[in-house]
Amino acid sequence: MTSDFAATRAAFDLPEGIIYLDGNSLGPLPRAAAERVRACVQDEWGQMLITGWNRAGWMDLPARLGDRIGRLIGAAPGTVVLGDTLSIKVYQALASALELNPGRKVILSDTGNFPSDLYMADGLVRTLGQGYELRTVAPEAVEAAITPDLAVLMLTEVDYRTGRRHDMARLIARAHAAGVLVVWDLAHSAGAIPVDLAGADADFAVGCTYKYLNSGPGGPAFIYVAPRLADRVRPALSGWLGHEAPFAFDLGYRPGRGIERMRVGTPPVLQMAALSASLDIWDRVEMADVRARSIDLTEAFIRGVESACPALTLASPRDPAQRGSQVSFRHPEGYAIMQALIARGVIGDFRAPDILRFGFTPLYTTMDEVAGAVAVLSEVMEKTLWDQPQFKTRARVT
Ligand SMILES: *Cc1c(COP(=O)(O)O)cnc(C)c1O
Repeated sequence: MTSDFAATRAAFDLPEGIIYLDGNSLGPLPRAAAERVRACVQDEWGQMLITGWNRAGWMDLPARLGDRIGRLIGAAPGTVVLGDTLSIKVYQALASALELNPGRKVILSDTGNFPSDLYMADGLVRTLGQGYELRTVAPEAVEAAITPDLAVLMLTEVDYRTGRRHDMARLIARAHAAGVLVVWDLAHSAGAIPVDLAGADADFAVGCTYKYLNSGPGGPAFIYVAPRLADRVRPALSGWLGHEAPFAFDLGYRPGRGIERMRVGTPPVLQMAALSASLDIWDRVEMADVRARSIDLTEAFIRGVESACPALTLASPRDPAQRGSQVSFRHPEGYAIMQALIARGVIGDFRAPDILRFGFTPLYTTMDEVAGAVAVLSEVMEKTLWDQPQFKTRARVT
């Protein structure tokens, strides 16, 4: 092990008395982020005003930070760029992939996918008309459903509810053999498990930065396009910052070079300042070490919960190789149980209809916290502490 996880934990500003197992939904605050954002606001925006785009290098940040994320997902420099939200990046990748595979009209995805990805695909299909179609099958049935009539396979590698993981390299090989392009959503992969986009010969990938990558609420998404495709892609969201020469203000659109063409509009500079503080921490670790520790943490949690809470059913794959960096359990009263846990300082989240979800983030989660979370959960279950009206009222965000 070369990664020092005591040092990475010390780099986060975690509230006292909280065991945070929801970094898979919103990463915590890196200590350096507050000062980084302050400097960006006061020293750059405040003092440089519009000259900051050049003098502070704001315009290059989507590609520079993209390269640093690239290291975590097996993408070469110059193949990842930041911007927009993940839902928009899903649309953009999908539209481009469809256009690269003319004559075919079917998108295949699975019923475990995050609804927003399916909604975006549905909206795109409606806009295109002309027989375009979104087909979904159960996650286990994806491989058998890869047929030569498909244009694009669109999958989220790690299931947001159960943590079940698709075999990326295998599915890409199957898809390519059938002439199908593949779009991967790495929302629960980037910073969670080692990803090798180049090694797996991925076509497109997208992901967000506010989960395991800790850019803060509303941080920008990222998109990867394989270098062999990047100069052939015709962006459907053809904004001015993806233009070959944005400041020529030509009336006609000409795509920019390579991955730059996947930019759309003005990037979120303050949010990228926060992200840069998080990436400084990521720069100090190896994904292989993160993965090894993630497996230790999740295995310990499963062992602890299964021996202390027989009423909870494991919803994640038991084999660590088959799951990402989260563990989910089912219970019909899952929502109330999670609220009771949160009231006692153990923060996970709930996903309808009955999933208690716990994210394990080696940069700052310790084995002691795993034991602490198991102890609190077992007390909540044993004494039925969740069975109180205040734990049953659903908030807007679960
Ligand atoms: C978190 C998540 C999203 C969220 O998309 P936003 O546009 O960033 O809100 C989309 N897809 C998947 C698979 C996710 O896990």
